[in-house]
Amino acid sequence: MSTSLLTFAKGGVHPQESKEIAEHLAIEKMPLPEEFEIPLLQHFGAPCQPLAKKKDRVEEGDLIGQAQGLGANVHASVTGTVTDIGTSKGPVSLSVPSITIARDLEAPDKVYSPSDWKGLTSQELLQKIKDAGIVGIGGAGFPAHVKLAPPPGTKVDKLVLNGAECEPYLTTDHRVMLEKPEEVIEGTKILLRVLGISEGHIGVEANKKDAIEVLRKALEKQNLEGLKITVDALQVKYPQGSEKQLIESVTGRKVPGGGLPFDVGVIVQNIGTTKAIYDAVVLNKPLYEKVVTISGRGIARPANLQVRVGTRISDIVRYLGGTKPDLAKIVMGGPMMGFAVSTLDIPVTKTVSGVLFLTRDEIDDSPYGPCIRCGWCLEACPMGLSPNEIGLYVEAGRSADTAQFGVFDCFECGSCSFVCPSKRPLVQFIRLAKQKAKR
Ligand code: SF4
Ligand code: SF4
Repeated sequence: MSTSLLTFAKGGVHPQESKEIAEHLAIEKMPLPEEFEIPLLQHFGAPCQPLAKKKDRVEEGDLIGQAQGLGANVHASVTGTVTDIGTSKGPVSLSVPSITIARDLEAPDKVYSPSDWKGLTSQELLQKIKDAGIVGIGGAGFPAHVKLAPPPGTKVDKLVLNGAECEPYLTTDHRVMLEKPEEVIEGTKILLRVLGISEGHIGVEANKKDAIEVLRKALEKQNLEGLKITVDALQVKYPQGSEKQLIESVTGRKVPGGGLPFDVGVIVQNIGTTKAIYDAVVLNKPLYEKVVTISGRGIARPANLQVRVGTRISDIVRYLGGTKPDLAKIVMGGPMMGFAVSTLDIPVTKTVSGVLFLTRDEIDDSPYGPCIRCGWCLEACPMGLSPNEIGLYVEAGRSADTAQFGVFDCFECGSCSFVCPSKRPLVQFIRLAKQKAKR
């Protein structure tokens, strides 16, 4: 591998990529199912206040959930009638408030036309992003308008777009960069205007050479009007796409423990989020549609599907021809940081980037053993933590004492579990330790 590829210094692993299953599949628009279950809690923050009642007619794009506190607005994904204000199952939370909409089968899709955003101020752009309910759609779902407004006195001088997509199997951002490069670049310009800065970097792992070329060509054709936007090729190494590692790879700056990107003058946004910001600002379209990678050898037909928020996984599986007999595990998200689920009655939210249908050959469910003190997890940890010690303390019933090993700096990337020869569930230990240490 070329030494000119950018990367972070400490730790990291090389899991089997398994991207060949879906990376060549063009984004496909899924036909609309008849019913949608739209959770009012899809991201960081408190649940939205429902603005629709049972039997109300709602139009595609209507605001149906008002953000509370640090949350983000939720919009109707389709035109139809509200049939229930109840609860939905989620991958992490067992039950979240939701609005069910029966689609009006005759209603046409809403058409959005581009508008010129160049005359808008930074505050007006930020308001559009807030109104459209944009959250970080590649991860925890932090509201974009909050992330784009760092505290007064903070000096930000670089924007970094996360096109690493380092999780195995997932190919959503790859396809968006390949198929929508102009929108990604226009979204980057909008973000730079919001932040009042001129330097933007799009970090892309080198296993997506085609996306790097397409973006660079699209940039050459643009009038950047004094902006400096580059596409930076990154070494293929997990977790290249985690915020702190990406910032180090692209800018050489290190976010201190307990710190945030703006502490080193950087704001990071994901590629899908940038495209959603383009939609919100240029098309005035709220975030209620996204691309989701459906992959793994346990699904009849893998795909990069454009689906509306609230589409149930069961409807996606039916559309793709069902699952295969040797299906062993379903994971929402990537295999390193995702969550195993036991039901298909879960709706797609703004933050779901993939659903994996894994066969027995693709998973390792062998029982775990004792720590043999090999130290591999210490070498793999990009944060320089001691996951082995955290695991041992949790097993000894001393979770509350794990803060000394930096448990709160762990962002649950799973690199330690991945390399552990004893198959120890280190991330689960760490999640438990965090809960108890907080108390
Ligand atoms: S899960 Fe946490 S402890 Fe384990 S490698 Fe990642 S950051 Fe380190
Ligand atoms: S990799 Fe596993 S066995 Fe080795 S030190 Fe870490 S926890 Fe122990």
